[in-house]
Amino acid sequence: MNENRYIKSNLKSKKIVWEEEKPIRWSYMKILREFSTLKKEYPVNPYAEVYQMRDNMWAIFTETLDGAGDPWMYLIDGPKKAMLIDTGFGVGDLKGLVKEIVKDKPLIVACTHAHYDHAYGNAQFEEIYCSKCEVQRMNAINNDKIWDYLFDENGKPKWTEFDRNDLIKYQPYKITGVADGHRFDLGDGYEVEAVLLPGHTPGQCGYLDLYNMTLFSGDTSGISKAKPGELCAENCTVLASRNAFKKLQPRFKDITGVFPGHGALDVSSVSLQYHLDACEAILKDPENYDTCKERYMPSTNTTRKILMKNIHQGTAIRYTLDTVR
Ligand SMILES: [Zn+2]
Repeated sequence: MNENRYIKSNLKSKKIVWEEEKPIRWSYMKILREFSTLKKEYPVNPYAEVYQMRDNMWAIFTETLDGAGDPWMYLIDGPKKAMLIDTGFGVGDLKGLVKEIVKDKPLIVACTHAHYDHAYGNAQFEEIYCSKCEVQRMNAINNDKIWDYLFDENGKPKWTEFDRNDLIKYQPYKITGVADGHRFDLGDGYEVEAVLLPGHTPGQCGYLDLYNMTLFSGDTSGISKAKPGELCAENCTVLASRNAFKKLQPRFKDITGVFPGHGALDVSSVSLQYHLDACEAILKDPENYDTCKERYMPSTNTTRKILMKNIHQGTAIRYTLDTVR
């Protein structure tokens, strides 16, 4: 364990492995988690920290269980319905936590994408929305084997200590794909729009709260290769990411805060332009990257050589030469 990466917390999860993060992200998270007065903890879910970010919107933090980045989930309390964006790893009572905050309001649950840290908590809900392009990957994780990789041969957690009994009980759930631009109705004209922001996965999808004008962008900076023949495989490129951000560009000025799947939140929408700029730079000259590193992918047990192009005032776009176009 890298002792220097330690962040104090009351969470029931205890990290064994700390990822080597960009120093700026790590220091942001340390200050937020150790000192923010926005933070609230609920006994119903000792794996979550809750930060109220708007009058009717909360960011829910949990620690990663697999050594990669700690994910954010978001909860919007609309006039007639509430909406949860992402479901985390599936450890701890997320459903109970949501109920404490929005009471008995009907809940829409939507995922940005089908990765472990954003969608393995799906099985505690009856229906999950996602982009049409993510349905195939979402179906692939709709089973009870998804958590096996978190444990070693003795049944001990490999990256983060947690009580195995606190994993949700698996039950099959319904997956509903929506088109880019689909609007979720939270009542009285309060709408949240699906904004396809692919590249990281084929159907990685942001959600734009049209009332607060907040964008829940998911994971946009790591471009990963699609499997051959996969649904919407053409979306797993820097080019597709660039095209999606370009389409959203006229609305950047109206967005009051960007809330990504990891790291700093309530970020200025200028960051969206900086992401677009970095994509353009890669497309112009893919070999002109800023850094390069070998990265171990715990979910597939492989190591890949990842190129990185810095995003101004942000992290970096991670890509490989075969995911540019
Ligand atoms: Zn992801």
